[in-house]
Amino acid sequence: MTITDTLNRPLRDLRISVTDRCNFRCVYCMPKEIFGPDYAYLPRAQVLTFEEITRLARIFTYHGVKKIRLTGGEPLVRKDLHLLIAQLSQISNLDLTLTTNGALLARNAQALKDAGLNRVSVSLDSLDNEVFKAMNDVDFPVEKVLEGMEAAQEVGLEPIKVNMVVKRGVNESSILPMAHYFREKGYILRFIEYMDVGHTNGWRTDDVVSLKEIVDTISAELPLEPLDPNYKGEVAERWKYKDGSGEIGIISSVTQPFCSTCNRARLSAEGKLYTCLFAIKGHDLKTLVRSEATDEEISNEIARIWGKRTDRYSELRSENTIDLPKVEMSHIGG
Ligand code: SAM
Ligand code: SF4
Ligand code: SF4
Repeated sequence: MTITDTLNRPLRDLRISVTDRCNFRCVYCMPKEIFGPDYAYLPRAQVLTFEEITRLARIFTYHGVKKIRLTGGEPLVRKDLHLLIAQLSQISNLDLTLTTNGALLARNAQALKDAGLNRVSVSLDSLDNEVFKAMNDVDFPVEKVLEGMEAAQEVGLEPIKVNMVVKRGVNESSILPMAHYFREKGYILRFIEYMDVGHTNGWRTDDVVSLKEIVDTISAELPLEPLDPNYKGEVAERWKYKDGSGEIGIISSVTQPFCSTCNRARLSAEGKLYTCLFAIKGHDLKTLVRSEATDEEISNEIARIWGKRTDRYSELRSENTIDLPKVEMSHIGG
């Protein structure tokens, strides 16, 4: 049964964080000063098992979820992730995707594909090693991420999308080289405006490079024109190269929020349901899953939570909202 929230938005898209751990320390997501050796990650017993995730995922599909994206932290640091994919791929009519930093993709691509994964999005913030290493903060080289993408393409995890977060003063100079390179490769590059997710990244409005600036920068060399969305509620605004050589996307949640069509729910690694990327608190589904509750009771609880949803954080964003308590990106995975 399709459910809608208080603003008449259905539930279509579920992002599942399978771990709060990561092998990178991106400065805009898990800065080293906070996510250091003593950081208290979720204890194993608190993390949903593959069986618990699959059970919840199936119940979500009863409510109209058509797409599941696995995320993290870094999803590929979760051991045997392909076994989860194999379980999820048994659910019919589901588009199953994964967002990864690409570090472990080359060695996992075949197993992921064989298990039933449809596509991958790979995050890469620059082709310049100096810039990229300064952003991932673990000295990880660009070439290894590109190898991961190649491997994904070879096994047919396509179309590959590449996510680039743009932070002012850090990687704007990488916008054009990235556009040129991935246009030639035929991968869809998506620019993400730097967001005030969580509290640890010290976000400031001035750090955001807007959709307009990104389009202007690329158009100066590679003229662009807008494209219609593929479907209602699509996150990225699409643009195509006027010469017909491909397209890019821009996720402009800061300068052009899209809350009015937001149909996404997020499930954290510890089984909390968040109805917004900027939510103050999640709804505990793990206790319910680990109780005697039937699928129907869990399903009713999800419908109750979604039915009360009022979230539209990005539309209301202002200097006053920046300091509100929020969940960290590494808990709900973007
Ligand atoms: N570790 C995986 C990865 O990096 O692809 C999956 C999780 S990561 C949190 C998901 C996406 O969120 C990545 O593309 C990342 O670049 C993006 N992201 C993280 N922090 C962000 C921020 N403050 N603003 C915008 N995007 C952010
Ligand atoms: Fe890890 Fe992804 Fe966050 Fe970077 S953006 S620290 S790779 S979870
Ligand atoms: Fe959806 Fe919240 Fe983002 Fe608005 S701010 S688009 S409601 S996740």
